[in-house]
Amino acid sequence: MFNIHQWYLENKEKVKAQHDIYRKSHLEKYREYTNNYRILHPDYIVNCKVNRQNMAKKIKSELYQLLGGKCVICGYVGTALCIDHVNGGGTKERKENGSSDYRYYRKILGKIKAGSKDYQLLCANHNLEKEMSRRYS
Ligand SMILES: [Zn+2]
Repeated sequence: MFNIHQWYLENKEKVKAQHDIYRKSHLEKYREYTNNYRILHPDYIVNCKVNRQNMAKKIKSELYQLLGGKCVICGYVGTALCIDHVNGGGTKERKENGSSDYRYYRKILGKIKAGSKDYQLLCANHNLEKEMSRRYS
């Protein structure tokens, strides 16, 4: 028997391409729909933001747990912990993810779960100390 779900899974790319064409040729319709939806559901954007922030917090705490939950130098435990890039490049990686904490943490979590040793936890003091010695040595 023909299974539409199975067919969709096998033709996903084709369907997406077709949908893209349709959306591009009906842009005004889509904009109108989106704008109306936002007017009718004023909480929608607020909820999205709150959900993302909650997800980011959840992922961050999982991330910190995987990294040992304390500063690798002094053992500090608390809110001033930072994710340190062992070999540098933190600012660059941060910029690649725009302003989204959620995306940033999710990406790092994925890498750590895949076995990456590029990240460690440092307290704010040791993080700054490392940065200063990198800059001025
Ligand atoms: Zn420390």
